[in-house]
Amino acid sequence: MEQFLATNINALKGIGLKNSNKFASLGITTIKDLLEHYPRRYEDRSNLKLICELPLEEYSTFRAKVFKVMQSKPNKRLTITKVIVSDISGNVTLTWFNQPYQKSKFSPGMKIIVSGKVQKKYYGLEINNPDIEPDIEEVLNNRRIFPVYPANEYINQWQIRNLVTQTLDKLEILNTEHKLPETLPEDILKSYDLIDRYSALQNIHFPESTELLDKAKHRLIFEELYLLQCALLYLRKNNKQNSAGIKHTPDGPLMQKLEKSLPFKLTSDQAKAINDVKKDMEDVIPMQRLIQGDVGSGKTMIAAFALAKTVESGYQGALMAPTEILAEQHYQNLSKLFSPHNINLVLLTKSLKTKERKEVLEKINDGSADIVIGTHALIQDKVVFKHLGVVITDEQHRFGVRQRSLLQEKGVSPDVLIMTATPIPRTMALTIYGDLDTSIIKELPPGRKPISTYIRNNEQKGRVYEFAAKEILSGRQVYVVCPLIEESEKLAVKAATNIYEELKKTYFKNINCALIHGKMKQTEKEAVMSDFYKGNIKALISTTIIEVGVNVPNATIMIIENAERFGLAQLHQLRGRIGRGIHKSYCILISDNRTEETLERLNTLVESNDGFYLAEKDLIIRGPGQFFGTNQHGLPDLKIADIIKDIDILLLARRAAIDTVNSASALSKIKKTLQSHFSDNFKMIFYR
Ligand code: ADP
Ligand code: MG
Repeated sequence: MEQFLATNINALKGIGLKNSNKFASLGITTIKDLLEHYPRRYEDRSNLKLICELPLEEYSTFRAKVFKVMQSKPNKRLTITKVIVSDISGNVTLTWFNQPYQKSKFSPGMKIIVSGKVQKKYYGLEINNPDIEPDIEEVLNNRRIFPVYPANEYINQWQIRNLVTQTLDKLEILNTEHKLPETLPEDILKSYDLIDRYSALQNIHFPESTELLDKAKHRLIFEELYLLQCALLYLRKNNKQNSAGIKHTPDGPLMQKLEKSLPFKLTSDQAKAINDVKKDMEDVIPMQRLIQGDVGSGKTMIAAFALAKTVESGYQGALMAPTEILAEQHYQNLSKLFSPHNINLVLLTKSLKTKERKEVLEKINDGSADIVIGTHALIQDKVVFKHLGVVITDEQHRFGVRQRSLLQEKGVSPDVLIMTATPIPRTMALTIYGDLDTSIIKELPPGRKPISTYIRNNEQKGRVYEFAAKEILSGRQVYVVCPLIEESEKLAVKAATNIYEELKKTYFKNINCALIHGKMKQTEKEAVMSDFYKGNIKALISTTIIEVGVNVPNATIMIIENAERFGLAQLHQLRGRIGRGIHKSYCILISDNRTEETLERLNTLVESNDGFYLAEKDLIIRGPGQFFGTNQHGLPDLKIADIIKDIDILLLARRAAIDTVNSASALSKIKKTLQSHFSDNFKMIFYR
């Protein structure tokens, strides 16, 4: 059966090479693709309207008889085909442009079913580019609810319906011969009241009734989410069982001294997360933990304790950050924190000179470097650790899953800690990070003043910059982020340079400000950042390179130019650079764009400082596909489930999957299904 699903659709009748290419344009090459080409919507044809009853400007379907077929060629480039059809109540003109072949499909007296959007013209009713199918009595008698598929200019509804019908007929044979295996375990079908696979496929395409259509949808959504959850949970179990990890020693004097030497008291969320991490690290099962903490919640502390713990147990720790600026900042901060404790840190980035680089690599290799902080440079081949105990990725959303696992492979089953400041809605976390244990840090360190956020237009910009200059006079620092230009880094740099030069001449005339962008040399960037950290530079005009991680508590103003170009999550990240100290902070979003979507996004940001709330909103505004690029999380696209709308089913499916994965016999039965279901994607998931 699975073989049948994997066969190319040209095994079906009437599919030649030409047609199979056309179907490929819809992403359909195998029978499985065809069956998973689910209808976009359904039409109830039980009581079709008469022509005189058709609502204008709406999509409808009716039966009619061909009255007259005409074709004209008003000029060389234009062919117009018009077919007048009628029923007892009136007539409609069907029109096609530049599709001369349409003419040959019709002859007077022919009975057809027409679907399309009806428009009123001065000469009567008209439909442009309608869908046509022959009105064969049996088609209508047997079926009431008709599927409407995503189609395109090469393939029409009728062709898809025909092919699906043919495929379903073959499935029926397999089903009656008991050759159509069920993907879901028997007991799950029963306890979750799900219909069988054949009925579900049959009814999702050609529903016998609305009740059965709902049941079919429910079953297929459940199946999709259940299989994904099984895969993720199996992966987690496998990770834990197959590799005996490192058993870190219980806290000794180093950990105790570190805690006492902190300049502040840990928040209770931090303490809890650190406890989770310690417990995981002391266990022989390798840690796979995700720390989700809003921007500024103090995630670096969690990393610090994990690193110290591995050093105390006699291992090395690695911390990977997505940008050089952030790696450098971590290196500075952790060096300060660890300096009383005789811990040896090194920084590894791409921009090290050959000689320095060689030295650093040697220290990593011979174990004299206890802690290694770096960028992607950490995962290169030449980096060999002596005995890696824990690997940490900061701002995981900036890395692909593959980079995470490459770092992990630098050790033998090291403990893994993943930190992200992009709070992921719960539903999303269950799907993307369904294989990880999670700690959440919601609470911000005490004493933070809430950030006020405002939307201003370009006319009001003068006042905004005057205000910024005033704040600088009273000792604060300012970020100005230049418009996001995704197409070209070069253009982004140009925009930033223009704004910088403009400000130097006007509002920031007597103020020490600096420009920073991705095209600058690393040493230049470092010099600028270091002056900004020290407070010598008062205003930093930058492209989005300061988006993640940067921590300068004295900076209290964030001005974002052309704010409409940024997504909600990114704006929240940018705003997270301020509000980190004891002074009141202000975020000003500058935008002239007043479309509804922009206003909704910007107002959401004004309303809330809660990253978790914003993430939920972002997911709703942008939809799950956009939220994380597919290649980012490496998960297969969902064909029918929608993780926002189908949260209830997701929770059921997850519960069922937990039961399956916990039972040895159930697990061994589902494994084969998982393999054929995910094919290539499966390997991807299991690679993590
Ligand atoms: P993020 O979660 O965004 O990575 P950081 O780890 O950079 O946050 O911490 C932000 C700031 O908060 C830093 O200046 C850090 O020293 C400070 N901080 C962290 N934990 C606490 C705490 N418990 N009390 C006070 N300040 C803290
Ligand atoms: Mg951070």
